[in-house]
Amino acid sequence: MRFFFHPAYVAPLPDGHSFPMSKYETTREALTRAGVLFEEPAIATREMLIRVHAEAYADAVIAAGVPKEIERRIGFPVTPAVSLRSRLSVGGTWAAARAALADGFAANVAGGSHHAMPDGGAGYCVLNDLAVTAAGLLAEGLVQRLLILDLDVHQGDGTAVCLAGWPAAFTFSLHAERNFPVRKARSGRDVELADGMADAEYLDVLAAELPGLFDVARPQIVLVQAGVDPHVDDRLGRLALTDAGLQARDRMVREACLRAGVPFAVTLGGGYDRDVVRLGERHAASLLSLAGHYVAAE
Ligand SMILES: [Zn+2]
Repeated sequence: MRFFFHPAYVAPLPDGHSFPMSKYETTREALTRAGVLFEEPAIATREMLIRVHAEAYADAVIAAGVPKEIERRIGFPVTPAVSLRSRLSVGGTWAAARAALADGFAANVAGGSHHAMPDGGAGYCVLNDLAVTAAGLLAEGLVQRLLILDLDVHQGDGTAVCLAGWPAAFTFSLHAERNFPVRKARSGRDVELADGMADAEYLDVLAAELPGLFDVARPQIVLVQAGVDPHVDDRLGRLALTDAGLQARDRMVREACLRAGVPFAVTLGGGYDRDVVRLGERHAASLLSLAGHYVAAE
């Protein structure tokens, strides 16, 4: 079972910035306590990026020369360190997908940057690792069809737009209707949830959706965006899942993939608890549940 992490996933941001960059490190620490070992991914190449990103934007990210207007939409400056982390994060999702095809499961302890659009990042997302990986798998003939299962509390709008020209990549997004982005894109299937939804109702919705997604997409791999921001304590979520509910969600996804006999690769996704140690434990528990390790929720 392979987990991908790189020390450069944690890039310095301006003082007092609200994005919890240190969560990648606290997640790695929590996974280490559970006995997980890590491999470092290779950096994503320009050729990979421009399958879904505009060449001018990919070049701007690589050169750490992203226009201010786009940096404002992203929410932080694309410094050389952020450029490196963004490209490594794409490399991590790509590596996890390749490893999952071989082993059945793998995870990137970053990624899930689902708001990044072809010609510019948005919402803390610089490059769309899910879309780049999906396009790469299809372009290189490693799979003929795939499913992106986006369980972050926000819609995977960038992924839907980036993959609009790739019909063999089926995008699914389960998100809070009234959350960011205000203007939603159109995924292969979108399910919008009411504010304040808690464990039981959420799990009922997911359980009802999963079989049909496998029937329609007939995927040869599933790329999971396992954001933990549907949690009740999340600053940016609008739902009310508990830790136990998130882990039940993740076990349900695992069981659906196993039942269908389809390998799955997991990305970290969103999570904005003020307590970054607790947030790291939450992300770690999510990844471990997807990996098939039961973690007792408090
Ligand atoms: Zn999110």
